[in-house]
Amino acid sequence: MTREIDLLIIGGGAAGLSAGLYAARSRVDALLLERMGSGGQLVNVDRVENYPGFPEGIAGYELGPLLAQQAMDAGLVFAYGEAQALIAASEGGRHTIRTDDETYLARAVILAGGSTLARLGVPGEEEFEGRGVSYCATCDGEFCRDQPVVVVGGGDSALDEALYLAEIASAVTIIVRRDAFRAARVAQERILAHPKCRVLYNATVAAIRGDEQVRGVDLVTPEGQRMQETAGAFIYVGLAPNTAWLGDAVACDPAGHVVADVRLETSVAGVFAAGDLRQHSARQVASSVGDGATAAIWAERYLRGPHSR
Ligand code: NAP
Repeated sequence: MTREIDLLIIGGGAAGLSAGLYAARSRVDALLLERMGSGGQLVNVDRVENYPGFPEGIAGYELGPLLAQQAMDAGLVFAYGEAQALIAASEGGRHTIRTDDETYLARAVILAGGSTLARLGVPGEEEFEGRGVSYCATCDGEFCRDQPVVVVGGGDSALDEALYLAEIASAVTIIVRRDAFRAARVAQERILAHPKCRVLYNATVAAIRGDEQVRGVDLVTPEGQRMQETAGAFIYVGLAPNTAWLGDAVACDPAGHVVADVRLETSVAGVFAAGDLRQHSARQVASSVGDGATAAIWAERYLRGPHSR
């Protein structure tokens, strides 16, 4: 089926939902395309403490649905489907976006497909995914109750999830590849003060081992190699933007992030980028929400014509 629309928002995370809220309130003929439920990566986050307006913090799985509800109440229309290809039009034309069973012809597009947790790329990782290798502590932490776990990575994701796991597991070993964390200082302080958390700096995981379940990881440390017993390996080594499907339809940097200007417009007129997939995104819920609002405002001005910009 082919469907004509003024604005297609691709992605239902914080950026897409915020763009959708603004577009709906501007009475733009907009549709938000999402491939699963709303909320994006937020729904796997136990607690968001740095989203302004919630001094006590808020669970990601509560904030995501609240953002979706607000956009829906404003009149945003949602559709399910996974964007597979974008064929860009010249200025003023309609961009073509294909999903499995639908073709959208949109005058403007906001790319807000977010990112996916990167893989570590070591032997055993794929084999044991779902059997002790996890990218979601809130989903899988309970399987490791009262057992030791390792967390790989030193960024905010790793430290936040390590703190969550410390309430469940018997011990949490955080494996950091260099001599320092990347995460915010507040998270570092909590980890270093937590009696169940231990940090191994300058250490890497060479392989993940097990039988039916993960039993251990092969560690490479400055003192040499050794096996560390663990019931779970929780991996948080960064984010990969969900942009492979775009091919060369819009300009991306070497890491696959979409290049955008201060209006969040990409190399293609009328196509905007918001949130984690945008080059130089701060990759916070707050910045993604801001991106969504900015992209929607400039998309609406684009739709009104050159005199509005
Ligand atoms: P990140 O900030 O990119 O950190 C990735 C961590 O994994 C770094 O410690 C990195 O080490 C390490 N790493 C990368 N590749 C590795 C490899 N092959 N082997 C071992 N270690 C590896 O990723 P993130 O923690 O997922 O955070 C992504 C973004 O989301 C950030 O902007 C972050 O601030 C944001 N975020 C914020 C919050 C919050 O505010 N509470 C929560 C989650 C995420 P190096 O430092 O050596 O590169």
